[in-house]
Amino acid sequence: MVPDHPIADLDHAATTSVRPEVRAAMAPFLDDRFGNPSGSHARAREAMRAVDEARERIAVVLGCAPDEVVFTSGATEADNHAVTGGLPIRSGIPLCSAVEHPAVLHPVHALGGRSVAVDPTGRIDPDALVVALGELGTPGFAGDAIGATEAETVSVVSVMTANNEVGTINDLDAVADIVDRVAPGTPLHTDAAQGAAWLDLAKLASRAQLVSVSGHKVGGPKGVGVLVVRHGTSLEPLIRGGSQEHGRRAGTLNVPGIVGCAAALESTAVRRDETNRRVGALRDRMADGLVAIDGVTETVVGADRDRSHVIPGICHLSIRGVDSEALLYLLDSHGVAASAASSCQSGAQVASHVAAALGVPADAATLRLSLGWDSTGADVDRALEVIPAVVERIRTFAGSVGR
Ligand code: PLP
Repeated sequence: MVPDHPIADLDHAATTSVRPEVRAAMAPFLDDRFGNPSGSHARAREAMRAVDEARERIAVVLGCAPDEVVFTSGATEADNHAVTGGLPIRSGIPLCSAVEHPAVLHPVHALGGRSVAVDPTGRIDPDALVVALGELGTPGFAGDAIGATEAETVSVVSVMTANNEVGTINDLDAVADIVDRVAPGTPLHTDAAQGAAWLDLAKLASRAQLVSVSGHKVGGPKGVGVLVVRHGTSLEPLIRGGSQEHGRRAGTLNVPGIVGCAAALESTAVRRDETNRRVGALRDRMADGLVAIDGVTETVVGADRDRSHVIPGICHLSIRGVDSEALLYLLDSHGVAASAASSCQSGAQVASHVAAALGVPADAATLRLSLGWDSTGADVDRALEVIPAVVERIRTFAGSVGR
């Protein structure tokens, strides 16, 4: 059914549309260049050449060596690999920030690890990180780790580059300084799935030994991503059963996806400054317009409206007196695609651990509006037209029912 109103896609943090140049780069590998790169004939060698070239181009964008790039099925796999892959080699438990994506948080918890508090802007709290690293390194400390019965050390520290719900950017250099000082030798992992669309990871994530990236968050295809494993970082494979990726990740390589991921990361890097300026201005206009509604607060942004610590694509709001489910339903029916939390959680309408960690009142609805590389002024116009009207409608209905 074709909707009779324009659609404003304000859920780009969930996924982005595929860039035309990415589609063009992938097409031959979905067509006659379909070889399996693990083979030993001409068609296989052609496919392997494409993978090698993609690896080199991605290495330039991410600021690593080509042989530090491990192709995965996406950031979820890369995160799981980074958190769990060191354990057969290093003892200890993983630590992460309290607002990590479930792809980090769940494996950390499954391994009896701990999460570290964030400050009111959503950045990992440096003092809390020092305490957690210090306590876990101290013999005799059992901490509050699930199942921890004796002194533990830390196997990996995982701190996301930018948060997927509220958009806060972490200072990874400061985190690396703390890890080097308090727990030297402990690898630092960063989930850069959201950061990759907006930030220069070659600079910002240069001190992380492990970096996760996802193709579909940067105008590439779904089902492909990268885990950077820097030289000297020991990591056991998560997926076994073949010698691909030098034994670090088994399975037939997703050649079209890998080629598309490289094209997407490259386009993102080339256009980054212009995109950030343009989309950041759109986000600011939208956020400034929406916080003018009574009872609407912008999460992690103060009264000065300084958003320099937030990636340009994200506007996260809490809205008093509104039911979250009704809000999303009505926005959708009026052509505004948005999310209550992260994409994995919005369908289930469960309370967000990020909102809880940031002290967002439990009785307020949360709304993530996220823009991407192809967002337009018309998307923002639509949001500014529809959201105030929908909020008022829900409040009026709730008021009339309560009377
Ligand atoms: N990490 C973060 C911060 C994300 O935003 C997402 C996607 O929502 C993921 C990990 C999972 O990425 P993928 O869909 O590539 O598995």
